Amino acid sequence: MTIDPIELTQALIRCPSVTPEDAGALDVLRGAVEPLGFACQRLRFSDAATPDVDNLYARLGTRGRNLCFAGHTDVVPPGNPQGWTVDPFKAEIVDGHVYGRGATDMKGAIAAFAAAVARFVARRGRDFGGSISLLITGDEEGPSINGTAKVLDWMKERGETVDACIVGEPTNEKQLGDMAKIGRRGSMNLVLTAIGQQGHVAYPHLADNPNHHLVRMLDALIAKPLDAGNAYFQPSSLQITTIDVGNPTTNVIPARARAGINIRFNDIHTSKSLTEWVRGKLDAVGGRYELSVSVSGEAFLTPPGPLSELVSSAVDSVLKRKPQLSTTGGTSDARFIRAHAPVIEFGLVSLTMHKVDERAAIADIRGLSAIYEAALDRFFAA
Ligand SMILES: [Zn+2]
Repeated sequence: MTIDPIELTQALIRCPSVTPEDAGALDVLRGAVEPLGFACQRLRFSDAATPDVDNLYARLGTRGRNLCFAGHTDVVPPGNPQGWTVDPFKAEIVDGHVYGRGATDMKGAIAAFAAAVARFVARRGRDFGGSISLLITGDEEGPSINGTAKVLDWMKERGETVDACIVGEPTNEKQLGDMAKIGRRGSMNLVLTAIGQQGHVAYPHLADNPNHHLVRMLDALIAKPLDAGNAYFQPSSLQITTIDVGNPTTNVIPARARAGINIRFNDIHTSKSLTEWVRGKLDAVGGRYELSVSVSGEAFLTPPGPLSELVSSAVDSVLKRKPQLSTTGGTSDARFIRAHAPVIEFGLVSLTMHKVDERAAIADIRGLSAIYEAALDRFFAA
């Protein structure tokens, strides 16, 4: 039983699985891994506010330590098809690259892992003393409500545990082997509304100018950096994204003034500690305000240790170089998994993800597959 990672990548790309559509992608994967001995569970979750989404949990083996590979078969829309030099869902091979939406983010990595398991099982047999699982969602590029988070809840209810997890997101900036991610910054959005009293600009003593309050409040928030970063994280960043008053006149003091703020924060903070810090600063300035907070994800870190060493060593064994361990970039489903198991992200090269002409080098997909196989060998060392 072998799996060609290039053919599987192509078969997956040919399913136009733009979130929340599955378009047959999970069945293609299931068809590839079931013959290896994986017990497959299709999980369809729904929610009043968001579309139903298909997910797959598959496990090979019933005992021992469980190494999980997590990823997503959904993709972002192709955008303007005229911008592509090939059909985004045909998976054509041009100059040694598989072209198509999802090639690098992250159907190529899923195929690379499935092929790695096939070779591992061919050498070690199905009874290698441990378990390998796949947690694949169709809801990573969308609201991420009916995806990985709910699969993890379902697993928890069944007592299904994971000992370590590799997420196949495209983590390498330029070349395979550049970078693995051992954590991610948190992200939160705030809307601050300063409340004053409307009046005539010539009679400011009869009004209360919310613009002045807002400017002082915002100044208090940006006066000093939040922190200087630490060994694994760059400094946290508070950015004012918009200031909206919408006052078309020259002679009216408005009643309200509003600003939007995004904070990308490291593990020195939590969204709760930052909300308290912001309120403390605003209260010290004085003046009435409203503050709404929405949290996209908390910062998290799997400190360098056995899992990062395992992946670094696997990369080194194939490419003769070690990846930088980083926490940069946006967020990913690793933010859900980290509450369940140590997690690391390593996949293909991110240069073309979400762009027109998304593509993955055939050599990179094969190289990544060899790296995943080396990781399996190390994790299940006899
Ligand atoms: Zn992705």
